[in-house]
Amino acid sequence: MPHLQHLSLHQLDLESLERGRLHRIWLHVAKNGIGEAIRIPILVARGAHEGPVLGITAAIHGNELNGISVIQRLVGGVDPKQLSGTLVGVLAVNVPGVLMKQRQFNDNVDLNSIAPGKPVGRGSAVYLHRFIDRVIRQMDYLIDLHTASVGRVNSLYVRANMNEPEAARMARLQIPEIIVHNPPNDTTLRGSAAALGIPAITVELRNPSRFQTRTIEDGLAGVQNVLFDLGLLPGTPVISEEETVLCNGSYWTYTDEGGLLEVFPQVTDRIAKGDPVAEARTIFGEVNKVFYAPEDGIVVGRSIDPINQTGSRILHIGRNPQPISCAVEPR
Ligand SMILES: [Zn+2]
Repeated sequence: MPHLQHLSLHQLDLESLERGRLHRIWLHVAKNGIGEAIRIPILVARGAHEGPVLGITAAIHGNELNGISVIQRLVGGVDPKQLSGTLVGVLAVNVPGVLMKQRQFNDNVDLNSIAPGKPVGRGSAVYLHRFIDRVIRQMDYLIDLHTASVGRVNSLYVRANMNEPEAARMARLQIPEIIVHNPPNDTTLRGSAAALGIPAITVELRNPSRFQTRTIEDGLAGVQNVLFDLGLLPGTPVISEEETVLCNGSYWTYTDEGGLLEVFPQVTDRIAKGDPVAEARTIFGEVNKVFYAPEDGIVVGRSIDPINQTGSRILHIGRNPQPISCAVEPR
């Protein structure tokens, strides 16, 4: 095995990193309860030539793993000598969550609901604040990679503010199954980036707690398209006649009756108002409730967990799905 050098840093100063090289960095952002460093693994491909900084983040939810593999392949696979600009791949934002195989930080807070965090406060808030301050601020563009939560599955879909031209462009270039127009929520990482003037999208790469080979390849192709489009690499985005579906919003439906749940439609299925979409059975096997689609839409995600206490999720429905092309105008 070749000896691989890892840099351990307290601050990440992209400008100070040698050009034309791949850097493997452990960024020390906090200390754990016995005074050991909690360090975030970051791959930086610092291009030989000038250009923008594209950031890609994975595992802000600790059980969302597909993005880790996308970043390894993308950033580890480019030749920094060919690169105009800098690729920053944050392999795991929520390191304590990854180790605990859970969505939340180790104080049970969802990091993607408290951005930009606080300089002084509870553990999750400080950790996230330092990460945004030391890493995200240096980015010109951000792609935040996610998956569904435990007990649910997602389509390959993008959330983006489609009124923001650069974000809309990055969204289309993913060639996703679905795009959900979603103005940035201030408390997500995407919202925080947008508030800093950084165009940002969220890409949902299907299912948690595993590496899904095909999905990782699709995710990689989408991010590579953005590299070509931003001029970080010579070439043009690979888009043929692909279409996607743009929804003007989305929402989850919930059960109002407990019992063993079976959800009928699959992700990307179209549903019509009044369609039966799920049923709950008693433990004895009798159907005690049928659930119907509240309106027309498309299935963005769905529950696969039969254990349904009253108030569990059923379907993530995209509103008003309209076909659109993934192609973007040349710059
Ligand atoms: Zn997530």
